[in-house]
Amino acid sequence: MTVLDLKGVTKAYAGGVVALDDVSLSVHPGELLAIVGRSGSGKSTLLNIMGTLDAPSSGSVRVDGVDAGALRDRRLSALRGTRIGFVFQHFHLLDGLTAVDNVATALLYTRTPRNKRRALAEEALRQVGLGHRAGHRPQQLSGGEKQRVAIARALVHRPALVLADEPTGALDTATGTAVLDLLIDINKRLGTTIAVITHDRDVAARLPRRITLRDGRIVA
Ligand code: ADP
Ligand code: MG
Repeated sequence: MTVLDLKGVTKAYAGGVVALDDVSLSVHPGELLAIVGRSGSGKSTLLNIMGTLDAPSSGSVRVDGVDAGALRDRRLSALRGTRIGFVFQHFHLLDGLTAVDNVATALLYTRTPRNKRRALAEEALRQVGLGHRAGHRPQQLSGGEKQRVAIARALVHRPALVLADEPTGALDTATGTAVLDLLIDINKRLGTTIAVITHDRDVAARLPRRITLRDGRIVA
């Protein structure tokens, strides 16, 4: 069983740019991998397809055994909402919500009863070392703390796969290192499957498996 299986994935944009060219990739439970490549190599396109946010032009995408191409919008949203967690470069937290409420938003797609959501969100914040910041709003948190909240949100519904898009890209070096340490620790401690998309070779070098993209192809 794989948590993610791409077979022969190609993506051509209008205008003729081929952003991905025959990409095949399997991710297994418990893996921690880097997808690395310079700007324009196709990383964001690949992330969007891995996360079922965009469909390939050809080829297949299976998430946790389910063929994403066979699902209509509502069921695809449900698959994404329950089986995938996202971490973005710029955090994407909701300013009007406290940390714990931001984390709890990831439970809206799941069948978790309302009265359980808060406790699970608090538990996820503890997992990232932010139990004491549960009531803070994003503007009261540092960049590194915001990214920890975002990581808690990506974990709280126990997804099959966490996709982190340049998770250290908006942080200074020391804070970025601490966030990467946390992702490595979560993978070890909780067994969460995590794919980190990065242009930074130093970030990629710290992860056990590396996939290198160049001009839309996997080259290593
Ligand atoms: P990366 O994230 O590695 O910088 P992208 O996946 O963003 O790479 O882009 C890969 C290629 O596809 C680039 O040549 C880019 O210009 C092109 N591209 C990305 N998004 C679009 C789009 N929506 N329409 C047309 N071309 C795009
Ligand atoms: Mg990109």
